[in-house]
Amino acid sequence: MSVAKEIARRRTFGIVSHPDAGKTTLTEKLLLFGGAIQEAGAVKSNKIKKGATSDFMEIERQRGISVATSVLAFEYEGVKINILDTPGHKDFAEDTFRTLTAVDSVIVVIDVAKGVEEQTEKLVEVCRMRNIPIIVFVNKMDREGKDAFDLLDEIEQKLHLKVAPLSFPIGMGYDFKGIYNMWEHNVNLFSGDSRKNIEETVEIKDLSDKKLDELVGTTSADNLREEIELVSGVYPPFDRELYLQGKQQPVFFGSALNNFGVRELLDCFISIAPAPRPKQSEERLVRPEEKNFSGFVFKIHANMDPKHRDRLAFIKIVSGVFERNTPYLHVRNKKKLKFSSPNAFFAERKEIVDISYPGDIVGLHDTGNFKIGDTLTSGEEIHYKGIPAFSPEHFRYINNADPMKSKQLSKGIDQLMDEGVAQLFTLELNGRQVIGTVGALQYEVIQYRLEHEYGAKCTYEPLSVHKACWVDPENPKSEEFKEFLRVKQRYMAKDKRGQLVFLADSPFTLQMTQQKYPSVKMHYVSEFE
Ligand code: GDP
Repeated sequence: MSVAKEIARRRTFGIVSHPDAGKTTLTEKLLLFGGAIQEAGAVKSNKIKKGATSDFMEIERQRGISVATSVLAFEYEGVKINILDTPGHKDFAEDTFRTLTAVDSVIVVIDVAKGVEEQTEKLVEVCRMRNIPIIVFVNKMDREGKDAFDLLDEIEQKLHLKVAPLSFPIGMGYDFKGIYNMWEHNVNLFSGDSRKNIEETVEIKDLSDKKLDELVGTTSADNLREEIELVSGVYPPFDRELYLQGKQQPVFFGSALNNFGVRELLDCFISIAPAPRPKQSEERLVRPEEKNFSGFVFKIHANMDPKHRDRLAFIKIVSGVFERNTPYLHVRNKKKLKFSSPNAFFAERKEIVDISYPGDIVGLHDTGNFKIGDTLTSGEEIHYKGIPAFSPEHFRYINNADPMKSKQLSKGIDQLMDEGVAQLFTLELNGRQVIGTVGALQYEVIQYRLEHEYGAKCTYEPLSVHKACWVDPENPKSEEFKEFLRVKQRYMAKDKRGQLVFLADSPFTLQMTQQKYPSVKMHYVSEFE
């Protein structure tokens, strides 16, 4: 098969949701369709169990699962599908944000009873910022939930999306009869037990067809006719171009647990979702079909076995083909590296691959060369942008608890930060180190891993910081900026890339500072224009 064909048949995407909406269940059903797994229950949930905060076995279990489910690849109808796993737990939101830089589209799962939840809002916001094409799947239709129109409203309002329903439920919960598929013009009846069998669909080209009354009863049929009329009055027709630009979002309804509505979702997905797309680098736009290879690191995973300190760096291929045993340029280090055993990932196994195409993810064994965001190419010096750091939510001083092991400690901190476990800030005034995290759980992960993987001990000390703000002065030579640096000396720090950060201790301080020094811009994200 030609490279162009290989690219065109790839779909690389992520499934995002608030925990418990049904992401794991849906993933599993998609894999079943692809024949990648044989039975339900094969995909482990990467959720942190409740109350597991200080249970280190739980952390290790979670890490083990996240390696196994990092990328789930399978074939369906000649299409190569790569699902990139995204942790739903909010303490790992950074990890999800970074993974979103490597997807070409996403499916958002929403629980029909709970509606739009907090984590979904945050993740969709990141997708919107990047104009990532989104398909919405409303799950758990077998349960009592919100009215479909109310829910569509809520999705538009809370997620700032423009929806175009492509299927519509017939009843709900106890009365759930099935789905009218506006994409395929058929009715799919819910028997409550399509767990094992792939459900049957009945074609209804015209909703006035009496066959509909026979199938679902006259009341439901009339209701559906009214509702569909309303849908076509209120919502614009589906427009693939708008979807691809991130300006319109098709919606499907179903029940992942009952394997209902999932095939429709998948069939539509493979026909409308984008193949790997061009990516902007600092230098230029890079197209997948270009001859020369390029890719970037979006995730790094430490080896589970502490005796082998090597790590696995996950590379998304942007252009060209990646070949085994071929030297590639590590752009930041200006070094050529060769990989003898690049891994590809499948549902239940990983394999050494000789060749990978744009859209694919390869896992490369790494002894400490890679950082998140690094670019690898055939030789050209391009830098992919778009893996920003967000302001952490929690901040603590980190102290060395074993003076004999200070080298181990700094190496450990360095590597854990490269992996993206947390962010390190160094205070300008006294060189003290501050660890910033999205969730409190990470402090325990760091302490545990420093001890078990690096033989170093650390303690934490509280520090009151509201937000880390990346500082962006209009004129770095201005008197105003100089005064700002002098007055705020105690709160200035450098992040790991050497960028200047203001650690504001309260929303009030931040507001006052912005008023007093209007020419000094503050950003909550490390990358700005
Ligand atoms: P995740 O946290 O988003 O990965 O959610 P899971 O896939 O683990 O699902 C959370 C819970 O919801 C599990 O108990 C599932 O069995 C259940 N669930 C998932 N899909 C459905 C559905 O369509 N209907 C019902 N009734 N329950 C579901």
